[in-house]
Amino acid sequence: MNKNVAAEQLADGTVVSSHNIEIVCAACGYDLEEAELDADKCSDCGQDLGLKQSVSVQATSIPAYGEA
Ligand SMILES: [Zn+2]
Repeated sequence: MNKNVAAEQLADGTVVSSHNIEIVCAACGYDLEEAELDADKCSDCGQDLGLKQSVSVQATSIPAYGEA
């Protein structure tokens, strides 16, 4: 799944850039649906489900990459 997180300013003044979180199966890279995150097994490869999360920061000065 891909989840967009909007930019925000934290209470301590830190600015968190807008970013995109992608969560896939650690074993096969299957793009998990949100409803599948709590499953015991990957619905694609059948392995015990481990989550692999990757975050890509979205900024106008950095070209988008890592898209499938
Ligand atoms: Zn899998």
